[in-house]
Amino acid sequence: MVSLSNHHRRSPTDRLRDGLAFDVCVVGGGSGGFGAACAAARHGTRVLLVEAGPGLGGTSTWAGVNNWEPVAGPTGLPQELYQRLRRVWQAVALQQRVARYHPDRPWGWYGLARETDYRLSLSRRSGVPICFEPEALDRAMAGALAEEERCTVWLCARFVDVDVARDEHRIRAIRVETPEGSRWVTATVFVDASAGIYLAHAAGCESRIGPDTREVYDEPSAPEMPIKQLNNASLCYRIARLAPGEPRQDSRCPKALTLPRFGR
Ligand SMILES: Cc1cc2nc3c(=O)[nH]c(=O)nc-3n(C[C@H](O)[C@H](O)[C@H](O)COP(=O)(O)OP(=O)(O)OC[C@H]3O[C@@H](n4cnc5c(N)ncnc54)[C@H](O)[C@@H]3O)c2cc1C
Repeated sequence: MVSLSNHHRRSPTDRLRDGLAFDVCVVGGGSGGFGAACAAARHGTRVLLVEAGPGLGGTSTWAGVNNWEPVAGPTGLPQELYQRLRRVWQAVALQQRVARYHPDRPWGWYGLARETDYRLSLSRRSGVPICFEPEALDRAMAGALAEEERCTVWLCARFVDVDVARDEHRIRAIRVETPEGSRWVTATVFVDASAGIYLAHAAGCESRIGPDTREVYDEPSAPEMPIKQLNNASLCYRIARLAPGEPRQDSRCPKALTLPRFGR
């Protein structure tokens, strides 16, 4: 078994000789997969985290979503990551709203806050998001996992196939393509944190798009009936080719500062 730091130092042959049976195998090393792997290792299980990309953090680090919105409750690993990021110069900051609305910036405009108290990010009422340097978050996650003896991380390793024991309703093994070749991995528990539910789909599991209904987890804020409501933040993003000479990003915000305030 190798920790993340050892993983990079060892030769490919050494790594492939390592045992490929784990207690927990997590597919996907984004925020969800990092949390699952780190928590499982801290509970004493032997964990393998399989990530297709060259680093950790997933959408948060590799797809430009470099902030946490205010959410109630994340005082465990997210707070720990915040503290780790605080040790790195300019890696993380609380934000404050500078202007509320602009046609080009329907979500307003945020600047850096002087405050550093993490607790302000825990409520939508205080409304203080946290922004971070994507690369620093990748390193902070890698650092946290490297401290866990029981956690093995494979980067550039993609889940591609699954062996299901249908009569037992259980996944026996998954196949992972690594830079050193194809490996079958067995585990007692598999966690699909791929965001695209690739493992669950391949295994024939039931899946759902949109929030779960109230009855599933007895969650008061969940809808009573199933709805396919997705994250509306996606509408703010444009995925298109830039014209030759077109600037990558307009970082100015002069107009937004002078606009009237629109409601709350
Ligand atoms: C456009 C957009 C805007 C958003 N804006 C915000 C925001 O402002 N603030 C906020 O807090 N949240 C925001 N979110 C939500 C937030 O980004 C996600 O909720 C969060 O990143 C999801 O984390 P995750 O770990 O579930 O998935 P991801 O971060 O997507 O991680 C999934 C990981 O699985 C890996 N993977 C996929 N397939 C395989 C495979 N076959 N084998 C191995 N690995 C695999 C991927 O490489 C990836 O690293 C936004 C999301 C989107 C799409």
